[in-house]
Amino acid sequence: MKKTSTPVVPAGRAPGGEPLLAVDDLHVEFMTRQGVVRAVNGVSYSLNPGETLAVLGESGSGKSVTAQAIMGILDTPPARVSRGEIRFRGTDLLGLPEQARSQIRGRRIAMIFQDALSALNPVFTVGFQIGEMFRVHRGASRRDAQRKAIELMDRVRIPGAGQRVHDYPHQFSGGMRQRIMIAMAIALDPEVLIADEPTTALDVTVQAQIMELLAELRRESDMGLILITHDLGVVADVADRIAVMYGGRIVEKAPVHDIYREPAHPYAKGLLDSVPRVDQKGQRLFAIKGMPPNLLDMPSGCSFHPRCPYRQNDCVTDAPPLYEIGPMRASACHYWREVLDGSHE
Ligand code: SF4
Repeated sequence: MKKTSTPVVPAGRAPGGEPLLAVDDLHVEFMTRQGVVRAVNGVSYSLNPGETLAVLGESGSGKSVTAQAIMGILDTPPARVSRGEIRFRGTDLLGLPEQARSQIRGRRIAMIFQDALSALNPVFTVGFQIGEMFRVHRGASRRDAQRKAIELMDRVRIPGAGQRVHDYPHQFSGGMRQRIMIAMAIALDPEVLIADEPTTALDVTVQAQIMELLAELRRESDMGLILITHDLGVVADVADRIAVMYGGRIVEKAPVHDIYREPAHPYAKGLLDSVPRVDQKGQRLFAIKGMPPNLLDMPSGCSFHPRCPYRQNDCVTDAPPLYEIGPMRASACHYWREVLDGSHE
């Protein structure tokens, strides 16, 4: 008789109205020769089924490290989760033994990485690599695994899937390789899909197609989608909510339309102003002045103060909390009202 096991995290709605995924006051640090790098400093966000959360920020803002902590793929050491919880359907993943986490990773919480070429094995056909998900996790036969691989390639709109299943990664374009990565990630019907900069290496038209595909898959399956990106322009049409990260913290959270209409943090406003617009042809693109903060030596007070056009004297000494400024809206800026008004000295 086939042995059945109870999943470590029960499927279905979590008790007490818990979201599908909740990151709560997460702190992650890296021990380096130069000192302790505090990459994630008290990050909290949540995700519901069928929802898309975009996590936005420059490199080093902590967005990918947070995702790696959710997946349980941080190298420990040098990384260490020093505080916080990551609850999946109400169960804290950080409290689970590695064996239990490995049952969730890839099956119930899956991730797509930025560089599809290096994530795929060049010596195996794409059909073999997609089919492996079914052979390893579901015990499917080689023949069934190949049939499933073709179905998935069809689902992610790879033309001629029946023939192309025998091709190798280098025979596909960048956009098609990213579709193969998406096929592998959704193979086991995950409840949460994390896409880490899934379109960075692609041209603008292909970016839009991949975003549309992710949105479509999310609609079809009711999974929660976390889109990690540095580009506010690519998530406008697909995200429900946005969390903007800077220096390891969330500096603004908002429903997507609110943040596009009226950002409430100078950094979010700067990111928005730096998105090219068709009605501003011929004008110079705005760029946020200065460099992202050195995580080994964070600025005092508000970590954005060296770059902030709204800065006042108290910004240099007092770190702003994440102020609740409206329904589902928060800003870590003492002067969020002035940012909303668009007024500053
Ligand atoms: Fe700028 Fe001050 Fe707001 Fe920080 S707290 S974002 S420095 S205005």
